[in-house]
Amino acid sequence: MTDPIIRIQKLDKSFGTLQVLDGLSFEVKPGEKLALIGPSGSGKTTILRMLMTLETISGGRIEVCGEPLYHMTKGGREVPADEAHLHHMRRHIGMVFQHFNLFPHKSVLDNITLAPILTKGEPKAKAEAHAMELLDMVGLAEKAKAMPSQLSGGQKQRVAIARALALKPRIMLFDEVTSALDPELVEEVLLVMKRLAAETDMTMLLVTHEMGFAHEFADRVLFFDKGRIVEEGPPDRIFTNPTHERTQTFLRKII
Ligand code: ADP
Repeated sequence: MTDPIIRIQKLDKSFGTLQVLDGLSFEVKPGEKLALIGPSGSGKTTILRMLMTLETISGGRIEVCGEPLYHMTKGGREVPADEAHLHHMRRHIGMVFQHFNLFPHKSVLDNITLAPILTKGEPKAKAEAHAMELLDMVGLAEKAKAMPSQLSGGQKQRVAIARALALKPRIMLFDEVTSALDPELVEEVLLVMKRLAAETDMTMLLVTHEMGFAHEFADRVLFFDKGRIVEEGPPDRIFTNPTHERTQTFLRKII
């Protein structure tokens, strides 16, 4: 059996007195496409942010590619590792956010090449050649010289996907990537993600309210409520025959 690429064990997360994740455990196999669904506030985005080391953990353990994301102190608590370790671990993971977060004063091409040049020391010509391949993949090769302000929301999000891919991550995290888009722009972004899922062996974790898309995209669906996994399984079963009452209520409301 292959080792999991992500292993989350008894993970706790609190913001002040608010407990957001409550002893959460799950594993992800290399290449798996996972959809995280559930009511707002159930902790889905927090999990992605913790994997991206954008949040500290309150207890438990996260391993990515067999290595702990956080270091254990003598007192038995895990704390953020030093910058060098975080830098090393972040190279495994790319994340696409709800609000694209492109650099507004950089061209599309520069947005994509900046990290490979600065963090991996890639030569400019090589980074640009790779960026052009990625832009071609997301259908935006002709926009390489454009500025973000000249793009539609759907185009910005496709650039953000290309930018996350530029560091060749083994794991991609997508956080509500279509929820800030006008409805007519959603499809073009989903299409790119579908192609990515079908054509690459990257591991992908998707937080979404687009249940139709989650059904098509995912190998496995995790349903969250109050910082715990209430139910999980293949999309066909979760969407057509959920066993837990909370999953049934949620899906009745949203579909
Ligand atoms: P979901 O993605 O399932 O909607 P989130 O992970 O975004 O849920 O949020 C879970 C809970 O944590 C929410 O109640 C949210 O308000 C809270 N939360 C998230 N980030 C912070 C933060 N930085 N400070 C305080 N509370 C936060």
